[in-house]
Amino acid sequence: KNGLFLGNRYESTAAASDASDPPVEKYEYQAEVSRLMDLIVNSLYSNKEVFLRELISNASDALDKLRFLSVTEQGLLKDAVDLDIRIQTDKDNGIVTITDSGIGMTRQELIDCLGTIAQSGTAKFLKSLKESKDAGADSNLIGQFGVGFYSAFLVSDRVVVSTKSPKSDKQYVWEGEANSSAYTIREETDPQNLIPRGTRLTLYLKRDDKGFAHPERIEKLVKNYSQFVSFPIYTWQEKG
Ligand code: ADP
Ligand code: MG
Repeated sequence: KNGLFLGNRYESTAAASDASDPPVEKYEYQAEVSRLMDLIVNSLYSNKEVFLRELISNASDALDKLRFLSVTEQGLLKDAVDLDIRIQTDKDNGIVTITDSGIGMTRQELIDCLGTIAQSGTAKFLKSLKESKDAGADSNLIGQFGVGFYSAFLVSDRVVVSTKSPKSDKQYVWEGEANSSAYTIREETDPQNLIPRGTRLTLYLKRDDKGFAHPERIEKLVKNYSQFVSFPIYTWQEKG
């Protein structure tokens, strides 16, 4: 072992799908992530809107990384020179899509970043959790430390991350569900979903949280957060 958690690959559903489709690989979350997910999904934390701030901040970080790299690596931007964040709402179906044209993730980065606890904020959160005794405190800790990417599960039943890194010629799809100890990764094959570079998050909102797919709601939240983000954020709605 080299100390890097590679995920527990325990099942491939390749046989069940079309022979020409790339396989869907299933991985178990690192135990700490499972614990964190349980807590997020089952918490009574009421300030759920923080999910948008967390996801916009990840998009902004990804754009920063790309911009930094593109200074030394010419040609990295290729034809896709726009560095921005696009948020689309589909209120009829309760779906919010957040797309950035940032650094994206390779297949291995998806496993390392979205299946394990790497970030310090979340690690601190878990430490405090161990130290706290009552369940009410858990909820407060979510707000205190922020739970990063996993905060998507404060409002979503299912989260799909389709991502393309300039380091890879393939685009990959990570898919996770609330109340599941496993996530899947497959290659993106639908030409309609292909992006030149970056990451698209699709949030399938919980029944009680579908209000977040209303454009006015998102726009209001974006206004609150966008002042700290140095990239343009565009919002629009799916035509009804
Ligand atoms: P943090 O942002 O504090 O590192 P998060 O849980 O928010 O923790 O995200 C975990 C990691 O997942 C990030 O560090 C990053 O490597 C990766 N990631 C999340 N969102 C994106 C994105 N939109 N583009 C590229 N990488 C991302
Ligand atoms: Mg983050």
